[in-house]
Amino acid sequence: MNLEPLTPQASSTVTKWTCAMHPEIQRNAPGSCPICGMALEPKTVSLEAEENPELIYMTRRFKIGVTLVLLGQVLELRARSKTGAAIKALLGLAPQNTPPLCPSNANNHTQNVSSGIS
Ligand SMILES: [Zn+2]
Repeated sequence: MNLEPLTPQASSTVTKWTCAMHPEIQRNAPGSCPICGMALEPKTVSLEAEENPELIYMTRRFKIGVTLVLLGQVLELRARSKTGAAIKALLGLAPQNTPPLCPSNANNHTQNVSSGIS
């Protein structure tokens, strides 16, 4: 004598019938849509977790996008620190006393300054 389980095993998939134009219409058997009269199409509902290829694709794109953004920020910070060091080095090259650009104006400048004082 064979032993049988007390509870029958539930099927892992359930087929519902729906209208392509009216997804709110769901029936347990084939037929026609009460709104538009189109034939209902089978819509399989699985109780098991399904792989969603669009989710996998978007997750991959998200990870790549975040990686590229972070890489860009690291490169920007590195470039900023190098630019700051270069500017400091250039400021160190500046002469302490700046000579006049045109020697002929140098005399007029000193004359104006001296005449303004007296
Ligand atoms: Zn319909």
